[in-house]
Amino acid sequence: MLFEPYRNEPFADFSDPATLASFQRALAGVRAQLGRDYPLTIGGEQVVTGSFLESYDPARKDRLVGRVAKAGPREIERAMDAAWEAYADWSRWGMAERARPLVKLAAVMRRRREELAAWLVFEASKNYLEAIADVAEAIDFCEYYARTALPLAEPLPTYAHPGEENTTTFQPMGVGLVIPPWNFLLAILVGTAVGPVVVGNTVIIKPSPATPVIAAKFMELVAEAGFPAGVFNLLTGDDAVLGDALVDHPRTRFINFTGSVATGVRIFERSAKVHPGQHWLKRAFLEMGGKDALIVDASADVELAAASAVASAFGFQGQKCSAMSRLIVVDAVYDAVLERVKALTEALSVGPADDNHDVCAVINERQYVKILGYIEAGKNEARLLTGGGPAGGDGWFIRPTVFADVPVGASIACDEIFGPVVSVLRARDFDHALEIANGSSYALTGGVISEDRRNLEKARREFQAGNLYLNRKITGALVGVQPFGGFKMSGSNTKAGGPDYLRNFMEMKTVTERF
Ligand code: NAD
Repeated sequence: MLFEPYRNEPFADFSDPATLASFQRALAGVRAQLGRDYPLTIGGEQVVTGSFLESYDPARKDRLVGRVAKAGPREIERAMDAAWEAYADWSRWGMAERARPLVKLAAVMRRRREELAAWLVFEASKNYLEAIADVAEAIDFCEYYARTALPLAEPLPTYAHPGEENTTTFQPMGVGLVIPPWNFLLAILVGTAVGPVVVGNTVIIKPSPATPVIAAKFMELVAEAGFPAGVFNLLTGDDAVLGDALVDHPRTRFINFTGSVATGVRIFERSAKVHPGQHWLKRAFLEMGGKDALIVDASADVELAAASAVASAFGFQGQKCSAMSRLIVVDAVYDAVLERVKALTEALSVGPADDNHDVCAVINERQYVKILGYIEAGKNEARLLTGGGPAGGDGWFIRPTVFADVPVGASIACDEIFGPVVSVLRARDFDHALEIANGSSYALTGGVISEDRRNLEKARREFQAGNLYLNRKITGALVGVQPFGGFKMSGSNTKAGGPDYLRNFMEMKTVTERF
């Protein structure tokens, strides 16, 4: 075996004073580096353009995390040239030769993991554990894809034919766009970039304008890990300038996107058009949103149900595609569950991420305004149980909010809000609860809290969710353990961190020789 056996990167125990002190030193180190400028990276060269995109700490609106260069049409062409030039060489490397720098990248991140997590605290307002978990997931993607790439160097098994040799092998496709969201600003950026790269493609990364500094940090890691120039290229800037231009570009071979339904559908439609000079049908991988439901059955342990609901709803301020935003409770335990959810929600602390609060700031003003708009709508649509508005402070803080008695068709029960807002819906019985859960156009994560074997088995069969969790929280999928991704409008089901992920970024070729 080439590499040691895969295992998930452990998180950190911040109840240990030494671990806490060490992380606080990392925070101080990063705090001293805030406000710097970062270049684009094209073909291994650092490129500055004269105009900058600014990234601020969501918890302190005036604290500049850093400025990144803005790319324009000229840089798009340069990046395409550099990525295709690098592809000519990189695509011919052996699979193991390409897997080794991934393992090296994981080692580099492991050595810098507290520092990287500290950047996430400032740029995205993740508390300590959420930040470490994001970095750990990024490390896992590198280790896991390095290993799952190796068998793809082998031909596929096919039947023999007399007098002939037949081989069917996988080959890379070309230059891909990597378009990650801001919420797992390191993990998803890393996972959606290194997956295509390890099997021989080269990429142009276009990160979210909300979290561009971590992308610039990633380019430092790539250089430290020793990848050849042009394998990873970074274009930061405005979506209006870069988004459609990159997606429509005739030299884009595939698009690996994670984000909202609105953007995903736009990319899906635009990437279907064949432009002059384009020699292929683009592939678009689109992992999108969720309106994730947790069902609490009559037989449920009420304490487990409430704890699972609150952890799933308010971790990272509810800004996870996997976050629980619908709590569907059967009549028999409705009042008991509601009472515990209210108490546990009100026990959460709200404040800046560098002080390690349970609930920190939401990402930016746009999200803040959108979330508060839904909270106001909810006050007309349902009964406010707790929360219900801004939490004050210097950043985009919103009180964790729960609405009870939410009608099935209410906007807060249907739309992905992507913030600390939960809708509780009352169901007559388990079948009714399942019907409500499946009545969504999304199917990303879901869960059931129940002691009833028949209902648990029914949920396994019928609950429409790409990732279904029974008797636990519904967030925190582990790479290589719980392949992640949904169906219906939640996406194209590439299953990040799953055994078939890398095949998406390859095409198959069959060679027949008659002797
Ligand atoms: P978003 O759709 O606003 O942006 C996602 C990415 O697309 C960003 O990099 C953005 O800059 C880029 N983009 C915007 N307009 C574009 C265009 N016209 N062409 C090309 N790219 C464009 O989403 P977001 O707010 O960054 O992320 C939150 C969303 O992501 C939520 O809906 C969440 O559920 C989803 N998400 C899904 C998963 C999953 O695995 N299914 C994981 C994390 C987040």
